[in-house]
Amino acid sequence: MSKKVLVTGASRGIGYAIAEAFANRGYTVFATYRNTTDTLSQLPVTPVYCDVSDAESVDALFSQIGDVDILINNAGISQFGTLSDLSEADWDQMLNTNLKSVFLCSKAASRGMIAKKFGRIINISSVWGVVGGSCETHYSASKAGMIGFTRALAKELGPSGITVNCIAPGVIETEMNARLSAADKAALVDETPLGRIGTPADVAHAALFFAEAEFVTGETLIVGGGFGM
Ligand code: NDP
Repeated sequence: MSKKVLVTGASRGIGYAIAEAFANRGYTVFATYRNTTDTLSQLPVTPVYCDVSDAESVDALFSQIGDVDILINNAGISQFGTLSDLSEADWDQMLNTNLKSVFLCSKAASRGMIAKKFGRIINISSVWGVVGGSCETHYSASKAGMIGFTRALAKELGPSGITVNCIAPGVIETEMNARLSAADKAALVDETPLGRIGTPADVAHAALFFAEAEFVTGETLIVGGGFGM
């Protein structure tokens, strides 16, 4: 029987590409959406509603789909602003969406994984979680938190046959970067040794690697064409 995969925030962008790549590889994919299922109806996946920042919503998700073999914590938000412009509400929304969600979903998924002595947890962090992004303090903190969480959980769950890894994308062409002007993008390409902006498929490729690697855990792989080194 094919392995069950849960991808959060799969209605578009990187999550959509990951859901598509795993479905094409023959996995049974559950893909969460929050606002729309329109895009997901084009893929051979099961769409499920979830607001990953909300504990009740995450409980309802796992009651609906049961145990999974592979969890990909992808859902996330970004916001640009200087520290003095950020409100406490901005901070809470960022940390709840990007980091508390990883705690909630990993906790729920790990129960079944521990029982089966097999599991893969793959967290989509960011290069800003590694090197820090100016005017994105709360985003960078949430993504750095994912890396610390990954390292700690890898140690805790390794003896149960579960690997926990992080992908830290650089600049990837999705709606998250819609605010960037053509000039901003050209400047980012200039800073990228491989000379282009990444695609969601580049990140999906790394997610497949972590799903299928048997002796790799606690790692953070930057998928950024050399950006931010
Ligand atoms: P998009 O904005 O294109 O997509 C984000 C996805 O997350 C959407 O499906 C959105 O669904 C979902 N989402 C947001 N908040 C919630 C929530 N509370 N509950 C459930 N789903 C939610 O972003 P990307 O595809 O670019 O980003 C995906 C991940 O990759 C994020 O974690 C991001 O931080 C990370 N990343 C992206 C980079 C980039 O350059 N694009 C670089 C580095 C990391 P909905 O709209 O329905 O809420």
